[in-house]
Amino acid sequence: MTFKKQLVLGYGLLLCLTLPVVTYGLSCHLQWVCLYALLVVLISAALSLVMLREVNRRQRQFNTDVAHELRTPLTSLRGTLEALLDGVWEPTPERLASCHEEIGRLTKLVEDLSLLTNIEWEYIKLNKTDFDLADLLKETASRFQAAALQKGLALELDVQSQAIRADYDRLGQVFSNILSNAIKYTDAGSVTIRNAGKEVFVADTGMGIPPDALPHIFERFYRSDGSRARSTGGSGIGLTIAAALVKAHGGAIHAESETGKGSVFRVRF
Ligand code: ADP
Repeated sequence: MTFKKQLVLGYGLLLCLTLPVVTYGLSCHLQWVCLYALLVVLISAALSLVMLREVNRRQRQFNTDVAHELRTPLTSLRGTLEALLDGVWEPTPERLASCHEEIGRLTKLVEDLSLLTNIEWEYIKLNKTDFDLADLLKETASRFQAAALQKGLALELDVQSQAIRADYDRLGQVFSNILSNAIKYTDAGSVTIRNAGKEVFVADTGMGIPPDALPHIFERFYRSDGSRARSTGGSGIGLTIAAALVKAHGGAIHAESETGKGSVFRVRF
């Protein structure tokens, strides 16, 4: 029996044994009140235990996931560097650039993880101001024009003025994460950003998300196609951050998709 279980059992027994002594001489009515209080204490202790166990389970899962995410790039980096040091490989600019790229990916992963933890544990204070949602969408889209152009995609904007009170930078990050995915997972056609009041739609004509993957895309480290997403530089954490930031603003995020036809992400405030 674990220490926690012993503690709860011990407290329960103590209360049961002392109850008749404490309530001795009290009216029947008061004895019922004491019994009721005892039950409440015991049930809350049991619930706290269950919650504690769930927190521990999530923490363990998180550690395992992080270790797994770090192991693959670190192993590849180590292998490359060892081959370069042993003289098995020539230190060509391409090989050095690939190491540099891998380090960049690792750095981004660590930064994203730190941001996610800060949002989830509410260490981040939202700096809310009044602004026009259309301005934010225009500015975010402009940062992706070059990437879209490079892939031959049309980046279309159909936004209307809408006053909103939110954290400008954090909201910008939400739409950046959604837009960068839309471009990353679309090989031909277009990416469209449009809003209807405080509801924003980001639609693409890309590969789409399989129905069995759709319910999981906002989960940490989830990629609908692991190897492919990893090769595109995805850490599987961008949408988790977006969802956490939207939630922190009291909003909701939702995705619809059809494999081979495209996806639509809807953010509502
Ligand atoms: P990643 O960094 O891997 O893109 P995300 O958390 O941003 O991680 O997305 C999770 C997964 O959801 C991606 O790996 C991808 O499989 C899927 N996904 C997200 N957006 C799209 C999209 N617009 N089209 C197709 N698949 C998408």
